[in-house]
Amino acid sequence: MATDSSTPQTLLILGASGDLAARLLLPGLGVLLASGVGGGLALVGSARESWDDDRWRKRVADSFAAAGAAGPEVDAVAGTSRYVRADASDEEDLRRLLGAVEQPLIVYFALPPRVTMAACRALAGVGLPSRTRLVLEKPFGTDSGSAAALNDLLTRLVPEDQVFRVDHYLGMSTVLNIVGLRFANRILEPVLDGRHVETVDIVFDETLGLEGRAGYYDTAGALVDMIQSHSLQVLALLAMEAPSTLEARDLRDAIAQVLRATRIWQDDPISFSRRARYSAGEIDGRRLPAYVDEEGVDPGRGTETLAEVVLAVDTWRWAGVPFRLRAGKAVSALRKEAVITFKQPPWVPTGLTGYQRPDRLRIGFDPDWLRLDVNVNGPGDPSVIDPITLDATLGSGDVPPYGQVLARVLDGDPTLSVRGDTAVECWRIVEPVLAAWRNDEVPLESYPAGSTGPDAGRPLL
Ligand code: NDP
Repeated sequence: MATDSSTPQTLLILGASGDLAARLLLPGLGVLLASGVGGGLALVGSARESWDDDRWRKRVADSFAAAGAAGPEVDAVAGTSRYVRADASDEEDLRRLLGAVEQPLIVYFALPPRVTMAACRALAGVGLPSRTRLVLEKPFGTDSGSAAALNDLLTRLVPEDQVFRVDHYLGMSTVLNIVGLRFANRILEPVLDGRHVETVDIVFDETLGLEGRAGYYDTAGALVDMIQSHSLQVLALLAMEAPSTLEARDLRDAIAQVLRATRIWQDDPISFSRRARYSAGEIDGRRLPAYVDEEGVDPGRGTETLAEVVLAVDTWRWAGVPFRLRAGKAVSALRKEAVITFKQPPWVPTGLTGYQRPDRLRIGFDPDWLRLDVNVNGPGDPSVIDPITLDATLGSGDVPPYGQVLARVLDGDPTLSVRGDTAVECWRIVEPVLAAWRNDEVPLESYPAGSTGPDAGRPLL
């Protein structure tokens, strides 16, 4: 597309009064503007609430300030931003709204998913200027069928490469760090395959509980909120073949290819998935009520706050290596990492003793770091093996993930967004698990908040 981030354009946020806009989107935009990207941007907020420009400008300025974003461009965007009241599911309102904004236009759907769907349907009736870009938030549909239907609807509005499906875990630094780690040296990549690797774990554990987000989370749960989206994207980056370039088509083809090869381990979602929810407990001196007692939770839904699945990647490289994905709320420690555990060496020379634990490559996310736990001779007796850890901090970038995502949107570069076919594929991978859970074929376990999870944190396989 011709437009790039130096061309003045309009960012229209639908759902401007919501949590995402205030907490993530506007702060990300503020830091981006402060870094010199997006000059001349016109910002327009819209929701059903009867806010005026002043109230919206205060929201924008507060969010920019909370991110520490300052400077003339930041002030200019906050000071000239406008608010237009509209129901995004109503054709007449949308027609009026689109008539009130300058082009080229970026429409950011910061709306509840069902409203996004309704807004896209209404926009199909209104029609969009040809260069418009659409930015969508996860979840993209509720299963592979609805994700495909959403894709069809979107391609009736604009071409696929003008659709940006946001997964903010695909902020540029995480992607580049994994790609660089794997493909910018000759040391690691040759051992990242089924001959050398025993297991791969991708863990997103957090110490926070529900934090008042029942409205969204209670209908999603850990599997859909984290594993179906973020964890599968990380799996794809770890397991894909080397793309020739980092251009959108090459990178997204590589991601799509490996996800198409991914399925539940032994096609057995009953044995290779786990779900659990937290009971009352304590984390860092904070008392947490049981999930079912949190405000807005419907215990009858049986929503899990911790999910685990084991996946197989059917490729020459990864056949036989289990990928264990886990995401949990209210557990004892924050842990966001991928752990690649290596097989034992084929033979440790007789005379060397003390082999205790396998070698591991650990990749930490946000902040991004790298640790290599490797067996060598210990500091004392050289005939005794001891593990050491080589430790490095990787660049996380100065711009937060939402800023990095927005930078690409302003530039018209879909590299960091989830392609339509991939969105469908991610649902296809987890659907057998969702079906087994719906049929109660996998028990809903319990773990006290502040513990390591069910079964004392032991992985499924
Ligand atoms: P909120 O419920 O906080 O905000 C929703 C916004 O949509 C409000 O501004 C609401 O305002 C507006 N809205 C609802 N219905 C309509 C309508 N018919 N027409 C116009 N505006 C409408 O949700 P979040 O901000 O938390 O989430 C938004 C999206 O972002 C969701 O898809 C979510 O999954 C995703 N997301 C959220 C994250 C977060 O941390 N919050 C993280 C990652 C993704 P009003 O009612 O006044 O119209």
